[in-house]
Amino acid sequence: MSNAIENPVNASLLSDLDRQHVFHPFTALGSHERDGAPIVMTHAEGVMMHDSQGRDYIDAMAGLWCVNVGYGREEIANAMRDQAMELSYCHAFSSMASDKPAILAGRLIEMAPVPMSKVFFGNSGSDANDTQAKLVWYYNNVRGKPAKKKIIARQRGYHGVTVMSAGMTGLPGLHAGFDLPLSFIKHTMAPHRLWEGHGLSDAEFVAKLVDDLEQLIAREGADTIGAMIMEPVMGAGGVIVPPQGYYEAIQSVLDRHDILLIADEVICGFGRLGSMFGCQAMGMKPDLITVAKGLTSAYFPLSACMVSDKVWQVLVAGGDRFGAFGHGYTYSSHPVGAAAALASLDLLEKENLVEQAGRRGEHLHRRLQAAFADHPLVGEIRGFGLIGAIELVADRDAPKAFDPALKVAPRIVSAARDRGIISRALPASDSLAFSPPFVITEAQIDRVVEGVREAVDEVAAELK
Ligand code: PLP
Repeated sequence: MSNAIENPVNASLLSDLDRQHVFHPFTALGSHERDGAPIVMTHAEGVMMHDSQGRDYIDAMAGLWCVNVGYGREEIANAMRDQAMELSYCHAFSSMASDKPAILAGRLIEMAPVPMSKVFFGNSGSDANDTQAKLVWYYNNVRGKPAKKKIIARQRGYHGVTVMSAGMTGLPGLHAGFDLPLSFIKHTMAPHRLWEGHGLSDAEFVAKLVDDLEQLIAREGADTIGAMIMEPVMGAGGVIVPPQGYYEAIQSVLDRHDILLIADEVICGFGRLGSMFGCQAMGMKPDLITVAKGLTSAYFPLSACMVSDKVWQVLVAGGDRFGAFGHGYTYSSHPVGAAAALASLDLLEKENLVEQAGRRGEHLHRRLQAAFADHPLVGEIRGFGLIGAIELVADRDAPKAFDPALKVAPRIVSAARDRGIISRALPASDSLAFSPPFVITEAQIDRVVEGVREAVDEVAAELK
């Protein structure tokens, strides 16, 4: 253990170093520079994190929906160490290959929720979704359809922060000040029942969502649209589970208009919904699949684009016209990342963690219902598998959102953190998310829900 953990003077020094020098992502820059971080984490194991002042927290978010097998897993650390000693790096350009990425790609193809042909490795969910957009453009150029390039995404969808991925993201906070989204990205309605489908049956709500998509396609022209990207269950946009029949109906629209489907499995992939992939839980049949986060349980930054044979055959044919495929990263097919992924997948399988995520999810949803179903501030409780959210509203019946200036969800997150619970306030309206490591126990889930209930009540009392 370092001195910083044992010595409170060093703990405040750490916080000051961070305040002065770290440029934090998704952070109010001015207030961070003024006030610094409320806590500085130093170590973690399982679902527990510990800060520089010796306080303990249950991480009910698995970091950013990613540390699926939990912190401090020796098996992954050892696999990464061994790989770094054996072959610390090997690029994948110009047909250069190494063993672990080949083994991992084979395993991913075997596991894929629908038949897939090839795996392109990257470093993050954002760059992988960027790659997917380029694949769609290349695909349609090779097919002699150079106008078929627009990408449809959904309001509230989250796909990352690169120029392309931030544009596909349907959250205004990622566009403001950045001149995004670029004009060839179009957004359709989110399947968010509270705000878009209140009082409608599933069938009526699906019809409304399909109609919005059909109108968008008619306005733009199907011959200008290359693909649609969707998370099986939206994460950062609010943990939004679509109504029954939604994906089947959307898929038939896309098929009719020759529009590819990209499944963004960055959160849902590798067990979060209680099945290996979100596509299985939701009945999606994508042409391209993006994975990251749970691929290595965040022990190493690694992402992958899985490509169906239908797309792959066209990309191969493109070689005649464009030469060698002109895209790739220094760290594509990183052997240490591949070793981390193989070790994480081994843990998922050996410990039956996907099944466990489903069971723990049922417990989480039962407890959220029991604690919040009648709460006057809670407008909706959502979730599927081991991912959930509660949405806080000013009026449950209308329904009516809180004034964003009240910062209701961030205040609850901070009150929960004071009780040793890490949750997350999502950027669109006042939702609080839960997405713990799969190794969380039922007793820990109970503590999370109790702590958050106390935090909600504390903020509710302040709002009176
Ligand atoms: N796609 C989804 C569904 C995500 O939730 C995220 C990140 O939260 C991303 C893409 C972007 O991944 P990254 O932050 O690794 O770039």
